[in-house]
Amino acid sequence: MALIVQKYGGTSVANTERIKNVAARVARYRERGDRLVVVVSAMSGVTDNLIRLAKEIMPLPSERELDVLLATGEQTTIALTAMALHALGVPAVSLTGAQAGIVTDRVHTKAKIMNITPRQVHALLDSGHVVIVAGFQGQTQEGQITTLGRGGSDLTAIALAAALKADLCQIFTDVDGIYTADPRVVPTARKLDEVAYDELLELAGAGAKVMQLRSVEFAKKFGVVFEVRSSMNDNPGTIVKEETKSMEGVVVRGVSLDKNQAKITLIGVPDRPGVSARIFQALADAAINVDMIVQNVSHGTAHPATDLSFTVDKPDLLKARKVIEGLKAELGFSQLLADETIAKLSIVGVGMRSHSGVAAKMFTTLAREGINIEMISTSEIKITVVVNSARGEQAARAVHDAFIT
Ligand code: ADP
Ligand code: ASP
Ligand code: MG
Repeated sequence: MALIVQKYGGTSVANTERIKNVAARVARYRERGDRLVVVVSAMSGVTDNLIRLAKEIMPLPSERELDVLLATGEQTTIALTAMALHALGVPAVSLTGAQAGIVTDRVHTKAKIMNITPRQVHALLDSGHVVIVAGFQGQTQEGQITTLGRGGSDLTAIALAAALKADLCQIFTDVDGIYTADPRVVPTARKLDEVAYDELLELAGAGAKVMQLRSVEFAKKFGVVFEVRSSMNDNPGTIVKEETKSMEGVVVRGVSLDKNQAKITLIGVPDRPGVSARIFQALADAAINVDMIVQNVSHGTAHPATDLSFTVDKPDLLKARKVIEGLKAELGFSQLLADETIAKLSIVGVGMRSHSGVAAKMFTTLAREGINIEMISTSEIKITVVVNSARGEQAARAVHDAFIT
């Protein structure tokens, strides 16, 4: 009797018809004798809609209240999924994140899971129930509702699989698995049979929203092997696991495009020790993730100054501006420019460690398309460029087809 954690994303539970399909799939596994914990997301569009409502009230709503609001999305689907199982004669009970024992830190809207005490989950499994758990949410030690960052139901599933020592963790979504690029953007993308944690980490960090970045970090840390597959068919999916020797033969495993970042440029930042530390510490204190950072050579001799650019998640732009503008008097930079029309394009593969000329080939491909590169950064297994968002998809297709045949 295997213990399986399954997660169904927003499109897989988008309406009652789909929820009935999910229930039918869960019932099939149960008939085989498996024990099941099922994590569900909010119906697709619901979380976005709740955020929109909050912003209609005020542009920067209280993050505590935002969490109370957003958690309702998943609470709707757990109850409906449990009912759909009841309709099939399957005993099922829904649990909120808190009831499932998911304890987080106090960072509202992007809380980290501190520990899981799944006492109720165990008890319900032991009494023969399918347990339906609300994804994306937990509670602090003090009992405040928190959410785990966008796409956080993936994290709920992976963390529960680790805590319950599940035999299998399956992430059901609206594509057949992890592709060499987002199939909605790159029509020639193909499904991968397997991906290394490190590759998926870089792809997810670079905007491939097929899996939430933090869920992949968690899976790697706790060695949770998982499968990403479709909730619409029975095709085998993509297995995500530790890197193997044979994976190094492929230079570029995948390409991802992130249109959800914005660039902030500070003009005339005084070039003296401690200035960058001050800026990035203030952003970190506000729980704003900074991704790429580029600092120019300084100009001027009496009062040397430099220009500093960095990228943040688009939804954090307003907050980031506020934080930086609060430092203006203290630091004395001359101007803050914000640019939301950027796209970040990355190529990823563990094979890059042992191959040269990869960056040159990427830049040549972009040059041939007449696409200007605004920022560049590299890691051992990833090369990222920032381009104008209007050219992002064209760039992704060209670069994908140059490396992946
Ligand atoms: P869910 O609601 O099931 O969590 P998401 O919308 O979060 O699903 O993630 C699935 C989507 O991720 C796909 O529909 C696809 O458009 C997108 N995606 C981006 N990059 C990739 C990739 N490399 N492989 C597969 N899907 C990708
Ligand atoms: N409903 C949440 C979101 O839209 C979490 C998830 O779907 O994984 O981000
Ligand atoms: Mg998702």
